[in-house]
Amino acid sequence: MREESKAVYPGSFDPVTRGHLEVIERARELFDVLHIAVASNPDKSCLFTSEERLELLRSETADLGGSGVLEFSAFEGLTASFASELGARWILRGLRAAADTAYELPMALSNRRCAQSGIDTVFLPAGAETSFISSSLVREIAAGGGRLEAFVTPRVEEALRGKFPS
Ligand code: ADP
Repeated sequence: MREESKAVYPGSFDPVTRGHLEVIERARELFDVLHIAVASNPDKSCLFTSEERLELLRSETADLGGSGVLEFSAFEGLTASFASELGARWILRGLRAAADTAYELPMALSNRRCAQSGIDTVFLPAGAETSFISSSLVREIAAGGGRLEAFVTPRVEEALRGKFPS
């Protein structure tokens, strides 16, 4: 029997955007299990708590297409160690512009070095309609009271309005 293919998609997801959702929908076709892992780093201050970020990821992926099973959790520490603990063979990352590549490539190579069980990184290019989206831009627009429908789903927009009441 073929071994189950499992990937971890780690990120801050602060908050989840249409860009993340695009990547998740496509990656679900590639892996039997896609484990979405919210990085909860005590040194990094986030707008949303890890529980809130997980909750939004769960609700906004509920109606996505694709066949692979989605799992969710929050984690602290090294992604490669977390992936090993889960028994995942792959780390999934999305690539937008050249700046992402410059950051992601050394990270992928060091994760491959660090990981004891041969974990490798798979990159998916951002969607043409969503490649301009980042969570930091979304937070900035929300803080300024701008329109967010092109960037996030209505539920995430509502959660952002709760953080920045006008
Ligand atoms: P991190 O702090 O780990 O970069 P993010 O939530 O910003 O967390 O991003 C998580 C992953 O999703 C990264 O691989 C990032 O490149 C990817 N990503 C973020 N936004 C997009 C987008 N618009 N399109 C494709 N991939 C994206």
